Amino acid sequence: MKGKKKKLALTCSAVLLSAGMLAPTYDSPVKADPVPSVMKKPPVSGFISHDELTKKLNQIEKSSQGNVAVDVAGYSNQGREIYKATIGSGDKVVLIQSEIHGNEKVGTKALLKMIKQIGSNNSPEMRQLREELTIVAMPMINPDATELNRRGNDMTWDEVTAAFPQLEPADPSWNYYTYKNQYWDYESKPGFDMNRDFNPDLDYVPQPEDFPGSSSEPGWYITPESQTVRDVYKGLQSQFGTVDVFIDLHHQGEYAIEGTDDPVTFSLSGEFIPHPDTEEGEKYSEYADQYHVDFSKQLNVAAYDAVQQMGNSPFGNISLYEQDLDLPGTALGSFAMNGSGTVLFEITGQTQDFGQKKMGQLRKAVETGVYGILENVATGDVHDLDADRYDDIPLDDR
Ligand SMILES: [Zn+2]
Repeated sequence: MKGKKKKLALTCSAVLLSAGMLAPTYDSPVKADPVPSVMKKPPVSGFISHDELTKKLNQIEKSSQGNVAVDVAGYSNQGREIYKATIGSGDKVVLIQSEIHGNEKVGTKALLKMIKQIGSNNSPEMRQLREELTIVAMPMINPDATELNRRGNDMTWDEVTAAFPQLEPADPSWNYYTYKNQYWDYESKPGFDMNRDFNPDLDYVPQPEDFPGSSSEPGWYITPESQTVRDVYKGLQSQFGTVDVFIDLHHQGEYAIEGTDDPVTFSLSGEFIPHPDTEEGEKYSEYADQYHVDFSKQLNVAAYDAVQQMGNSPFGNISLYEQDLDLPGTALGSFAMNGSGTVLFEITGQTQDFGQKKMGQLRKAVETGVYGILENVATGDVHDLDADRYDDIPLDDR
């Protein structure tokens, strides 16, 4: 596994590609790659298209006997619906999203399955989730990118300045892609990495002096997709006070557990900014009182334990994602500063090169991890978990 097919230059993940070191500007490191004359793309027909999502969510809502409410939360830049499915009536709130990067598709499969199961299954466990939690699931929040099987959305800088005329004098944001390579053609269809477009100030209005920005600075809510997620988050805040838990389902390249050849199934993380109480995190000090990294660590431990309990490989190979990050423009970073416990899932294999290999297995592993979180939050057991065990989750060879 190692060496054979590692990483390419396309280790997209929640973080790496745009983390500054690899993409210093709004250009991409993969731009210089040679363009092969024939690019064989693995099949992705087993994943879910936007049309299928629409159909499946409607079916689930209809057969749920009132347990699942599906609403259009907003629209993508190209006018596709962004959905939210609400399940349960508890006062603990969990927001889960998938496919913020359109080439990271397993999370959407997992989320649909879970919406159906939690909404329609009458086992004591599922009933408890519905009674204790309000779960808001947003599968496929970047549907234009989904349709193009790529990371960025489908939007030009001109469209941004049309929406925000005050940005006319500004340079395009650093996360604006205009390159072309063997996988994607951002040259003819530019787009933004919307997972750098979040800002912990949920009322932030774009200002020209904040552009082009960088990976260690907040985003601007210039994309309709991030605005939609932000609006759902704000709505939950005003209804419940706090969004207790925020889970973001991504994909990454292929790695092995550190010191072994065991291929990682997925990686977890709960920390995306330096702690506001530290020197490095001082710029976030206004959010210090509502930043609960220990709770995030407990949530990650809950996911880790649940998957470990399934037994050996492939489900046992869970690693801790890269730590010591400073990514306030990610949804995870911004929402962590608003009081949410946060969990990142990085599932193995970017769709453009990994295709739908191991899809069922990976989906099952993610579902198990997410259920571990939901059950521990519903019962309150999460608060008894030892947050320090987060640091015992093995690293990988990245
Ligand atoms: Zn991602």
